[in-house]
Amino acid sequence: MTRFPPLVEIPPTAGLPAQWSDLLALSGNLAAGLAQQLSIPLPALTCSGTAALIVALRVLQQRLPGRTALIVPAYTCPLVALAVHFCPPLRVVPCDLAPGGISLDAGQLAELCDEQTLAVVVTHLAGRVADVDNVRSITAKAGAAIIEDAAQAMGALDEGRSVGLKGDIAFFSMALGKGLTTAEGGVLFSSNPELNLALQRQCRQDLAFSIGWELKRIAGLWGYTVFYRPHGLYYVYGKPLRRALANGDMVAAVGDDFSAQAIPLHTLGRYRQRVAAAALARLPAFLRQGRERALRRVDLLRQLPGVGVVADSPDKQGTWPFILLLMPDNKTRDAAMESLWTSGLGVTRLFIHTLAGYPAVTPFLQPKLLSPNAQALATRGLSITNSPWLSDDMFGRVLAQLRAALG
Ligand SMILES: *Cc1c(COP(=O)(O)O)cnc(C)c1O
Repeated sequence: MTRFPPLVEIPPTAGLPAQWSDLLALSGNLAAGLAQQLSIPLPALTCSGTAALIVALRVLQQRLPGRTALIVPAYTCPLVALAVHFCPPLRVVPCDLAPGGISLDAGQLAELCDEQTLAVVVTHLAGRVADVDNVRSITAKAGAAIIEDAAQAMGALDEGRSVGLKGDIAFFSMALGKGLTTAEGGVLFSSNPELNLALQRQCRQDLAFSIGWELKRIAGLWGYTVFYRPHGLYYVYGKPLRRALANGDMVAAVGDDFSAQAIPLHTLGRYRQRVAAAALARLPAFLRQGRERALRRVDLLRQLPGVGVVADSPDKQGTWPFILLLMPDNKTRDAAMESLWTSGLGVTRLFIHTLAGYPAVTPFLQPKLLSPNAQALATRGLSITNSPWLSDDMFGRVLAQLRAALG
């Protein structure tokens, strides 16, 4: 496929674009701003979503001693599994997803969840709102906690309230490309006031200021402000992507190449908090416009024969960083990616493998059951960006390529 327009790269997710004035913010309180805007308890801020998860797991380990299993979706960010490296002797038990969706498979979860289970991670993948109520009925019997991984879902609503309030603990990510960004950052909270205080205490204890990491992340945030636009992304995202694909390294192409040793633990500096607090004012309108755009496009995608579009049930209103599709089979998915991955149109794959496919993750894994639906997301899934820079004309080109791949 010829590139259109040339030397332009639409980002794979709808990150909130930065403004120069954000970098000059002299005041602003990010934690208080998030609490107010999302109607959540005052959160603790961490250096990443992964760090937030690590802190959450350590607090739960103190409260539920002796429990050694963490149940997580079999298809999720590898960092979630790598977090247990910091919480020995915790091991990860993958659970399949419900067919065609991102909620945990309730039958399999009931089988896996027992008195060894510390917590179940419910992931609002792709901004979709996963079912927490069914999970609660299962964890309650086993005495296990629920952690809502809302890394990709800041602003998503479950029955009119922010995601993260039904489970025991929740976190958002502020990594590059995940909506609101601090270059890297995490937001950690609990609807239980006492647990929320314990999370804040644990953060103070476990996360120290690091001048080295802070300077690196500030540079990252400035870089985001400079390059996060269609022309800039061609150089900082498009070129490395093409290089990785030319080398046949799909894991590097989507940035899944993580290792436990490389996960830093430190604070989120005040300057970056102020920058994000300034950008936060633009988030509600950005998410609203994104939702309208995505729902319009979801309707068009639904007309493609045999293609599944991951959506929300009626009482849930997720965010739309991108649209997650299930093609009819692996052959049509790969045919679509062949033309679209390097087209500059923001089409990519989410995670390349299920957790068991990452060598860095397998030492921490305790697989018990097969996960065919998670596997389907890896073999048949693809994602279309919901960036505002993907014009209707560009989206039309994506649709045409998908139609062609379906044959
Ligand atoms: C990105 C992500 C994380 C980790 O968040 P970081 O801020 O990158 O550490 C966890 N879970 C999911 C589903 C994610 O997409």
